Amino acid sequence: MVSAIDTAAIIISRDAHNISRAHISENALKVLYRLKNAGYQAFLVGGGVRDLLLGRHPKDFDIATDALPEDVRGLFRNCRLIGRRFRLAHIHFGRDIVEVATFRAHHEDAAEEGEGVLRDGMIMRDNVFGSLESDAWRRDFTINALYYNIEDFSVADYTGGMQDLHDGVLRMIGNTEVRLQEDPVRMLRAVRFAAKLEFHPEAELEDAIKRLADRLEVVAPARLFDEVLKLFMSGHALQTFELLRQYGLFHYLFPQTAEVIDNNEPFVLPFIRQAMVNTDHRIEQDKPVTPAFLFATLLWVPVRQEAERLRESGMSPIQSLQVAAETVTREQQQVITLPRRFQTPMKEIWISQSRLEHRRGKRPLSFLDHPRFRATYDFLLLRCDIGELPPELGEWWTRFQEVSDEERRAMCNAIGGSSKRRRRRRTSKASAKANDS
Ligand code: ATP
Ligand code: MG
Repeated sequence: MVSAIDTAAIIISRDAHNISRAHISENALKVLYRLKNAGYQAFLVGGGVRDLLLGRHPKDFDIATDALPEDVRGLFRNCRLIGRRFRLAHIHFGRDIVEVATFRAHHEDAAEEGEGVLRDGMIMRDNVFGSLESDAWRRDFTINALYYNIEDFSVADYTGGMQDLHDGVLRMIGNTEVRLQEDPVRMLRAVRFAAKLEFHPEAELEDAIKRLADRLEVVAPARLFDEVLKLFMSGHALQTFELLRQYGLFHYLFPQTAEVIDNNEPFVLPFIRQAMVNTDHRIEQDKPVTPAFLFATLLWVPVRQEAERLRESGMSPIQSLQVAAETVTREQQQVITLPRRFQTPMKEIWISQSRLEHRRGKRPLSFLDHPRFRATYDFLLLRCDIGELPPELGEWWTRFQEVSDEERRAMCNAIGGSSKRRRRRRTSKASAKANDS
């Protein structure tokens, strides 16, 4: 049953590809079948098809259909329409959401129809419904534009995605430069897929990204936050970081960090790389990773340098960290919006570093119960790992958590000795001052 589909597609029949319904989520299948039974076309598309063809587990399933959003809502009780620019249907199954999009036309068709509005080459509106074929051509990469048809279980390929999937090549659909200009986030998506799938961006795409990297400046900071999370929290953070630098994109995401890297600050690269390795490892083990910790690592060296500068001008260690945390965060917000709920813990991780470095009196004991202790300690270990701090400090804190309360007090007392010395020094300084006056 391929008659409904434009003949421009290569149709790969069920026996010539490896997608089996057993690998598609039950909820996505329900949606596909209900659309089909209501007389609509229904296809699995995007990352779901791509990952299944590669023998991977898709993280979600997107569906494309000729049903209009309102029609989709009429078919599902658990459906919500979202988005202003282009209405998408979200079908809710508990926590699982299946996204259904009506076939959309590429903006060029839209412009011809007087609908698309372009500014600086960016699409402002592309809310024009289209055919399956037009839907394929407005997608980003050929490997993301393959359609699995629930009618006969075939795959439709309009853009050569099957061949590129086979060859491990990432290729932009249409004119690479134009497509990157109209949505510069596609440069970040290219890096994400290159890192995740270990695919090679074709030379034209690589060159265009290097040439157009500065276009990231026009992307809304809130959208960049979403993209940066996908970049660094999908289990391939290290490779992503290296590619972002290689293509000249990193500078436009974390300018302050890029600057300390350019200045050959000795600890910054090992620190970030180790943080990325740890993040990837945690994701592999299904452990949670938080944007607060991620941003804390990416911005740490600029914060530390700024704090050092402030200390040299006479500020206390804790205050200099507080002020530096504010300054660096404010500057970063110009580029990427880090929501407040992540800003606060990020700053706490930085500022509490000084509490772990200066273990005085009874403070270490009470800090153990602090809700942010674990993150602060993990962050300290990272600094010890790459030699920014002496390894003994990390070892002290590791041991401190393992031993009994009694031993903890003994460990604190041992440190307390030095604090007494400090107090003595302070007292003698104060009395010297008093003598001066
Ligand atoms: P992932 O596995 O990360 O979900 P994905 O390819 O499914 O990868 P999504 O962000 O879920 O990525 O997008 C779904 C599909 O929508 C893509 O495969 C692509 O076809 C299309 N798409 C998404 N973002 C863009 C974009 N900026 N420009 C053009 N097409 C896009
Ligand atoms: Mg997806």
